[in-house]
Amino acid sequence: MGKLPATVLAAIDDARRRSDDPLALFVYDLDALTRHVSDVMAALPAGVELYYAIKANSEAPMLEALAPLVSGFEISSGGEIDRVVACPTRKPYVFSGPGKLDSDLRSALANRVEAIHLESLNEIDRLQRLAQQAGRVQPVFIRINPQLPPSLSSKLAMAGTATPFGIDESELPEAVRRVEAFSHLSLKGFHVHAMSHQNSVERHEQLLDFYLQRWTEWKALATGAEPPTHLNVGGGIGVDYLTGQRFDWSRLCRHLGQSLAAHEQPPVVRFEPGRFISAFCGYYVIEVLDTKTSHGEHFLVCRGGTHQFRLPVAQSHDHPVIHLPQRPRPRPDTAKTWTVVGQLCTPKDVLSRGCRLEGVEVGDLLVLPMAGAYGYNISHADFLCHPRPVQTFVSEHMRGVSL
Ligand SMILES: *Cc1c(COP(=O)(O)O)cnc(C)c1O
Repeated sequence: MGKLPATVLAAIDDARRRSDDPLALFVYDLDALTRHVSDVMAALPAGVELYYAIKANSEAPMLEALAPLVSGFEISSGGEIDRVVACPTRKPYVFSGPGKLDSDLRSALANRVEAIHLESLNEIDRLQRLAQQAGRVQPVFIRINPQLPPSLSSKLAMAGTATPFGIDESELPEAVRRVEAFSHLSLKGFHVHAMSHQNSVERHEQLLDFYLQRWTEWKALATGAEPPTHLNVGGGIGVDYLTGQRFDWSRLCRHLGQSLAAHEQPPVVRFEPGRFISAFCGYYVIEVLDTKTSHGEHFLVCRGGTHQFRLPVAQSHDHPVIHLPQRPRPRPDTAKTWTVVGQLCTPKDVLSRGCRLEGVEVGDLLVLPMAGAYGYNISHADFLCHPRPVQTFVSEHMRGVSL
């Protein structure tokens, strides 16, 4: 953290020259993205797959850069199907999520989705009808909301507690029975996506071991000629926004490799992370519009705000801030502790508190790193009718693309 790649700095300079107004933009470093993902893929044990959950960031240049590297994509809406289909490199994709529309399912069937992840008993019946109409036998995963040991449950739990996701283990025998009885569905595997923000490698190792242990029992529920082969263990690998320290993915992969080697009937394991893939390549760049002190607290009022980068408020954290002075300061004044805010008329528009920065002036730029996942796309960009920020995708090998 703290050092910005030359391509990113060049893109910021370029944007600054072109813009009459003070700057607010996103820059994505596609070289950093492909380097990181190549490392992530290289660490996978033999036979383990990784699908990128595109809801973390589904902009076209991101998918284009990722498609040649990952095993496939995970999507959760008709709009996301369109994005995957528009990608020049076609990859297998899987469709999960609650409340799927018939029109989305029809689109998935027509666009040769690899597998559909079924989230309820009703959805099993509905997909059978639609697959029959489409004249296609559709491979499916059943998403399970398992009983988790208390030591493994988490803050942002999607399983092990009451949620709209997946099917309880008590209903699993019925779900398997239905899928196997239906003419146009075939059971390819089971899916569990239990949490988000996992920052502990050790706990994630335990979670994977727990799934692998349950796998034998889940698989035994199937009695058909072709037993399920795949276990999708979801995403949820965390990003430590405060220290920038990365999750030890190699260690997790080594552990998984050992666990699979020791298993009597190992499944084909599939990961589907989003945040851990795209977070690190993104930067949100904002310009200081005003500095002021209110009731003893120092504020940097910046272009943009939480309507463009909602992540820090969504996670209730103080995002790290890198200061880019815009003119030489022979003697920067003493450091102050700042609260960095945007342009919105609400006291909730805070990107970071307690930022210790030296010699900040109006016109300087602030860069918020780790903004590549759940940044712009989860934000309420139309609030107050401010213009949307430019998104720029840079790489040493190609000219930047701006959206
Ligand atoms: C959101 C989501 C993911 C990705 O989660 P991350 O925390 O970004 O890794 C994976 N699978 C499913 C089903 C999801 O809904």
